[in-house]
Amino acid sequence: MTSPAVRARDTPDRTVPQQIDGLLIVDTDKVRARYECYRPDCPQRREGPAFGPDAVLEFVRAIKTEHLARHHYGEKP
Ligand SMILES: [Zn+2]
Repeated sequence: MTSPAVRARDTPDRTVPQQIDGLLIVDTDKVRARYECYRPDCPQRREGPAFGPDAVLEFVRAIKTEHLARHHYGEKP
């Protein structure tokens, strides 16, 4: 598996593919999760983090739908 550092060096201007408009980041070591939104008109670029197994599970299940409903009305997840 290629490490993020190596990939970033190979493609310095393309670390975030253009078709990605949001990213769910889950840290399984520290048991936490957050959501980052890349839409240019987003009023809240970061959601979370959520901590703990139950909170992380619920966050992963619902955050994209909730974020779109709150900040990008009309977009489909
Ligand atoms: Zn957003």
